[in-house]
Formats: sequence, C-alpha cells, structure tokens
Amino acid sequence: MHVLLVEDDAVLADGLQRVLSGHGMAVDVLHSGAEADARLQRAGSAHAAHAAGPAEPAVVVLDIGLPGIDGFEVVRRLRARGSAIPVLLLTARDAIEDRVRGLELGADDYLVKPFATPELVARLRALARRNAPKAAALAMGDLALDSDTKRARVKDRFIELSAREWAVLEYLLQHGARVVSKQQIIDAILPWGEDMTQNAVEVYISRLRLKIADAGVSIRTIRGFGYMLELAPHA
Ligand code: CA
Repeated sequence: MHVLLVEDDAVLADGLQRVLSGHGMAVDVLHSGAEADARLQRAGSAHAAHAAGPAEPAVVVLDIGLPGIDGFEVVRRLRARGSAIPVLLLTARDAIEDRVRGLELGADDYLVKPFATPELVARLRALARRNAPKAAALAMGDLALDSDTKRARVKDRFIELSAREWAVLEYLLQHGARVVSKQQIIDAILPWGEDMTQNAVEVYISRLRLKIADAGVSIRTIRGFGYMLELAPHA
C-alpha cells in the first residue's frame, strides 16, 4: 500500500515513515504543500493518461500546518481536480473549526497530534480499504486474487506468489484490460526513492506468465509500452 506523507517536521516525518514502513507500507515523504500539490497533480494526470509518471498513492497523510501552501489548500486543490484519493489530515491544533474545515474541504479523516501510531496505521488501512477496487474486480478468467489473505487462485487451485509477484499481478488486475507501463508498475509497488529496473519487471512478468498459464487470462506485451491482461480466447 502506497502512502504519501506530507509533513514539514523532519523528525516526525522520519519517525512516521519508519513506523509505516514497518507495517509494510511504501511511504514517500514530502515536506511542503507546494511539493505535495505538484506530486498529486502529476500522479493524477499520469493515472488518467497512462503516461509515465508517479502512480497515485492509496492514501495521503497531510499535515495542516505546512509552510506556504497549507494542508487545507492542498486538499482543496486535490478535490477541485476531481481526485478521490483518501486524505487523512494531521493537526497540531485541537481546534474544532480546523477539523470541520478540513472535512468540509474534502478530507476523509483527521488525527490530532500527538497521536498513537497504531491508531494512524489502523485508520490508514481503513481508508485504503474503503477506496480499494471491489474484490469482484480482482478476478479475470479463471484467475482470482484475495487481497485480504494475499492468495491467488487459478480455478480451484491456490498458486504460490512472492510478495513482488503478487503486487505486480494485483496492479495488472486492478487495471483490467487497460495497458500499464513498466514504470507505472514500478511506481505502484515501490516507494519513489527505491530502485527497481524495468528488466526486473520483465522477470516478474515472465514468472507470472508461467504461474497463471492455465488461468484463461494472459499477460500481453504491448511492445515499447508495457502490458495488459487479456482473456484467452475460448478453445
Ligand atoms: Ca507542521
């Protein structure tokens, strides 16, 4: 699960990044509202046009008190662009007006600092679940993924997938019959700072092809661009 954390307090940001990473989340940290606004704009347009660019995070954790463009303005602009990415606001102030204003501008949840990190983790998971594609969407042909148990099934047989193979296959299934680029796959399954080559994606794809060979669905290569899932023609 991809989290974008926007917090200008470097010590707090580092601490939260460690905690969330420890819970298996891929966390990217930005320190200003302007950076966050730019990143979310690019992610939104990349998503729409399938152009190369950062993927949309599953959840945004947004501090209200940021230098320059504050958290309120970031969330206002995000919603003005029509984005539905879940946003959790962090506020140092215990002022009720702040919470009301944040929610009215389109934030989904908030936490008042200082907060207990397990609460943050639980709320982020709940927000991501609420916004996740429906379980039914993660099936195609005779292939089905169960996101809760992280198991993949071909017909009535469970298949073994590594964590990375799982993430690649989940991303492809979330996009159904739409083409995704290698870079989009990398952006979706890794934090932005982390490295993975496009060759590595090819390796995961070829392993997945063997594992889902009889699933009635195949991973088609779109030369020079990326991949898409395709239902196998009926025999
Ligand atoms: Ca702050």
